[in-house]
Amino acid sequence: MLFGQTGNRLLVLSIDGLDAPFLNDPALRVKAPNLRRLMREGASATVVGVTPSETWPAYASLVTGVAPWLTGVLTNDLPATAFRATPLWEAASQKGLTAATVYWPGTMGAKVAFNLPQLQESQKGGSAAFDAIAQKSNPAGLASRIENKYPAFGKELWTDSNSAQAAIYLLTTEKPDVLFVHFSEVEAEQRETGARSLYAREILENSDDLVGQVLAKAPAGTLTVVVSDHGFENSNRTVRPRVMLRQAGVKGRVEVADGLIGTADAAVAGALRALLVDGRKYGLAREVPMAEVKARAQGHAKWVAAFDTLPDFVATEEERGAAVGNGSHVATHGVWPNRPGYRSIFIMAGPGVRSVKLGEIEMLQIAPTLAEAVGVRLPAAKDSSLWRQITR
Ligand SMILES: [Zn+2]
Repeated sequence: MLFGQTGNRLLVLSIDGLDAPFLNDPALRVKAPNLRRLMREGASATVVGVTPSETWPAYASLVTGVAPWLTGVLTNDLPATAFRATPLWEAASQKGLTAATVYWPGTMGAKVAFNLPQLQESQKGGSAAFDAIAQKSNPAGLASRIENKYPAFGKELWTDSNSAQAAIYLLTTEKPDVLFVHFSEVEAEQRETGARSLYAREILENSDDLVGQVLAKAPAGTLTVVVSDHGFENSNRTVRPRVMLRQAGVKGRVEVADGLIGTADAAVAGALRALLVDGRKYGLAREVPMAEVKARAQGHAKWVAAFDTLPDFVATEEERGAAVGNGSHVATHGVWPNRPGYRSIFIMAGPGVRSVKLGEIEMLQIAPTLAEAVGVRLPAAKDSSLWRQITR
């Protein structure tokens, strides 16, 4: 039986840190005509992320369809050669499709025909050195070829306009079947000026313009996908469970991981449940059922109880300070993926895709959907593809 849809070209654009409210909250007044057109014409959803809901783990899961503990990408520093699951670009290449990646996190050594990799060692502060990427390009000299065509391409630091120019070069010259392109400036700005800040909204409007430029060069009949890796919150209040427990006279170990307060100690669990009765005072939102914890983060299976904090309240393992005190007020992610309001986005538009609002989906559904759209299998991806649901 023929699996999926063959013959489609696929263009996947990621906008790092594109928290769903940027596009869904009218009060933010974001002008993003290109993204909004894709949302109007195609399928769109808010997305519950993976654990840890950090940048590189999310990007590995977006292209493999499996959770970080199975890809092995749990931090922001692994090359594609370390992935323990097959990414879509590799599965596509094996099927004879031409795959290309531009500045996608974790693509050093990716098995693709064209690659301008993002690798942690190329980072300079929040940005990446252009030369480090150019030197590691595949094939060698790819960056020079792009620069010959677009003289403004070469820079000191890699920018989103570099990603767009590289994408336009590839779409018009090399014509890959699947192309993954990453934009990082919306995330970088939020780290400086806060979640969904006015400045971050301006950067997103610029990203939207770059998306429009790339789309204008995509061959007719290209399936276009826009994804992001995680939502964003502001750490307005700091929650210190170790201080709370000491004040309550309870001994025993408590941990903070993936945004959750967890414990393997029944007495500590009981004390935290007692504090949850007055949850607002302690910044606690709810007890997270252990079945949910284990489903999303196998590493915490030893806990007997786990608790999530209120939105914009971030837990730490600090021993000193107020039980609940002022936070750093900077934008943060890496919190528990299904917290209220903490969502990334998925948009897919193009041939055969109908206009539909999907509501909320899981991030692990995205890779199998893209795979089915280009007729490729990702055997390790167990979540259901959305392809049948979004096409007719
Ligand atoms: Zn990110």
